Amino acid sequence: MAGMDWLWNALGAKKGRNQKQSKKIVAEATTVADDLAALSDAELAEYTRENVDVKPAFLAALSVASTRTIGLTPFAVQSQATLRLLDGDVIHMATGEGKTLVGAMAATGFALKGKRVHLITVNDYLAERDATWMRPLVEFFGLSVAFITEKSTREERIAAYKADIIYGPVNEIGFDVLRDQLIVRREDAVQHGADIAIVDEADSVLVDEALVPLVLAGSVPGTAPQGHITDIVRGLKAGKHYTVDADGRNAFLTDEGAAVVEKALGIDSLYSEEHVGTTLVHVNLALHAQALLQRDVHYIVRDGKVQLIDASKGRVADLQRWPDGIQAAVEAKEGLDVTEGGRILDSMTLQALIGRYPTVCGMTGTAVEATDQLREFYNLRVSVIDRAEPLRRFDEADRIYATAEEKMNAVVEDVLERHATGQPILIGTHDVAESEQLAEAIREYDIDVNVLNAKNDAEEATIIAEAGDVGRITVSTQMAGRGTDIKLGGADESEHDKVVELGGLCVIGTGRYKSSRLDNQLRGRAGRQGDPGYAVFYVSLEDELILSGGDGESVTAHPGPDGLIEEKRIQDFVEHCQRVTEGQLLEIHSQTWKYSKLLADQRVIIDERRATILDTEKALEDFRERAPQRVAELEGTVDHDVLVQAAREVMLYHLDMGWSDHLALMDEVRESIHLRAIARETPLTEFHRIAVREFKSLVNRAVDEAVETFTTVLIDADGAHLDDLGLSRPSATWTYMVGDNPLEKKTGRFIQGVTDIFR
Ligand code: ADP
Ligand code: MG
Repeated sequence: MAGMDWLWNALGAKKGRNQKQSKKIVAEATTVADDLAALSDAELAEYTRENVDVKPAFLAALSVASTRTIGLTPFAVQSQATLRLLDGDVIHMATGEGKTLVGAMAATGFALKGKRVHLITVNDYLAERDATWMRPLVEFFGLSVAFITEKSTREERIAAYKADIIYGPVNEIGFDVLRDQLIVRREDAVQHGADIAIVDEADSVLVDEALVPLVLAGSVPGTAPQGHITDIVRGLKAGKHYTVDADGRNAFLTDEGAAVVEKALGIDSLYSEEHVGTTLVHVNLALHAQALLQRDVHYIVRDGKVQLIDASKGRVADLQRWPDGIQAAVEAKEGLDVTEGGRILDSMTLQALIGRYPTVCGMTGTAVEATDQLREFYNLRVSVIDRAEPLRRFDEADRIYATAEEKMNAVVEDVLERHATGQPILIGTHDVAESEQLAEAIREYDIDVNVLNAKNDAEEATIIAEAGDVGRITVSTQMAGRGTDIKLGGADESEHDKVVELGGLCVIGTGRYKSSRLDNQLRGRAGRQGDPGYAVFYVSLEDELILSGGDGESVTAHPGPDGLIEEKRIQDFVEHCQRVTEGQLLEIHSQTWKYSKLLADQRVIIDERRATILDTEKALEDFRERAPQRVAELEGTVDHDVLVQAAREVMLYHLDMGWSDHLALMDEVRESIHLRAIARETPLTEFHRIAVREFKSLVNRAVDEAVETFTTVLIDADGAHLDDLGLSRPSATWTYMVGDNPLEKKTGRFIQGVTDIFR
């Protein structure tokens, strides 16, 4: 990829200096490794511990240990990459170059220095696979390694988090953080802190999914369904009764639309004091479900249930729900039973989760393209690692067609032609509906097609592992099977040479993605470890990217008879549309983060407060100040430790419920901020003003309520009987991830809004 140096330089990624330095160290390590070969295992482990800070010696020892334990001798580029991780960078290292081993070597390095490492993966399957695969290497040095998955029990998690190196999917690690933020006894905590996060598929976690909130909810009877509002909204017409903004993220009633709804409901005004917080919210939710969420694009209906499709992965996301209102609105739209709601107890974005680690580093095949985001949001640098073997993949220029139909016909034709030779083909689509359509079109010719939009990462991995076999056609959405190697000639490589002769794996994209980074992810599936390969993208001028990125600009093209456009000018235009979209995404990310950041900072303040209450007798002392008589009374009858714990539970109950109320309120504010914002203030400013004000009152209120409860609740040898007052904690909790939360993307002044009201 030497030809891309200009791009790396332009993006400010590091290539030159560090690469040179680390190459020198790795060369030294190679000589040291020869001397170490004679050592026994125990001697080698001892030698490593003594030389953790001597880079060549340390790398040499890792290399020898890796050969002995897992049978992989690290390539020089893997050792270089390990050094860059240990320096806290995100490494750009192509697919199939062996990042799993790199991550394990770096984790071992950190752990040998006494740090606890979370190795963060994108799913359960990879956490288990990588921990199991790398275990012998880690254990060789007397370190412990563990993994967690969605299936892990509480006890298993407690044990796993004690290990030196823990592999876990990002959402499960986040859910454990959320649950730990609600404990009432310190010993109930599942996690025990971590010093380092090594993030695999770093661009996916840190950029694409960064603002996905992880949610912890508790059981509460459901909110009322809104059947007849749904029916009224169903009758509204786009453009007449409502408008959808250009990027499809918000829908608004027009005056005419509002009038229709008001008439049908028999009310004066949706915007009156009486209806603005209730009826209007329901109408907006129904409109959102109706106008913005499309069946088979954003969700599917299966077994009488709405199942979300993860936008960036294009797959069914099993445990996901939308925020309650939207979920209920979609269920109502589809005529399904509206499921019971819950109370959101806490939530946290992946970006906030990652922000908790003192040190973050990561690895991905496409880091360079995310340089701006990694710097802006995480202050991380990118280090580019060369390939072990030169790239032998041929990337063809886009094939651009006038219409979507002509494009799809051309894709099918191309697939048929290539398939006739036996060349394996992997097709990347944009959503589930498109995958299904394309697979159907190919199956009409009596050809087998594997479609990846599976429910199960392990199943998906098995299918994708075979995608390089002779005659295979695999249709996949964006993220499907990420992390699994596509070997030529099948997973056992039995037909390897034949597939090499056929040109290796052919990758076809059915349209440019929203960023060139995602395009490159797909391309990277072909040409691994010096294999031959081929990649091409098909584009039509009707693609969403072109329509929105081109912002309605009219382009005159001169297509050939089959619709193919071969003008350089149009190729440039496609690039332009993608760059515009990338810019918009970055802007949305910045803006959205400004909303989330304040709440994340407020959550930190709450959690610090919780820590004091958990670890000290502060709660009882506070009550002693505010209700001295009651404390004196109880001290006569109840054991001191019991009383401390009772005070703690009372205080935490009100603090936690207060926080939960705060989140609900701020969610509502965020939804309706464009209605509330007054002319002279931007929505963001207004949001911050309200958030700061409400946070102050939340804390004061929580303390007042706690004092009230403490003076009235029965406290005996069994502790505080909060249940008697109907103040029990939710008996069941569950967790889920929310899809993209659309926000206002107007720029606004950012107000530093966190006040430390606990001092
Ligand atoms: P990546 O995460 O970079 O896409 P993986 O870690 O999944 O790559 O590894 C891809 C393949 O390369 C695996 O089959 C692995 O066994 C192989 N591999 C990795 N390192 C080495 C090595 N040093 N020697 C031989 N094979 C290796
Ligand atoms: Mg990988």
